[in-house]
Amino acid sequence: MIPRIFYCPFCKKTNTKTEQVYGLSCGRESKSLVIVPGDLPPLTTCVHCGKQIDTENIINGLHDLDPVTDQYQWIYFINIFLLPAIFKLVLGWPLLVAIVVGLFAGLIASYMIIEGIKKMNPKRW
Ligand SMILES: [Zn+2]
Repeated sequence: MIPRIFYCPFCKKTNTKTEQVYGLSCGRESKSLVIVPGDLPPLTTCVHCGKQIDTENIINGLHDLDPVTDQYQWIYFINIFLLPAIFKLVLGWPLLVAIVVGLFAGLIASYMIIEGIKKMNPKRW
């Protein structure tokens, strides 16, 4: 699924993709040829800070993920592996239970940590 919005790499605020850009990124993902009418500007201007963003990068989905999640994705990986291990090795839970509960707890914990980081930096993001 292609998001309709992208995040400005400079001010981190959301911009809406133009129909052209959106159409092209959908074509890239499905590996099909998309004919988009009109000229595609090489640079897209952020509506918030006015800086220029490479249109090609937007099409390729480089700015699709919000910057906090992008930066802290590793929290997911750590929690998803760490929590099942803790449940199994430290608490002595059965392996299957430790994995299932650990995965869930890991996802929720990671989500809350990342949301917490976003709230701590309201101005930055
Ligand atoms: Zn901006």
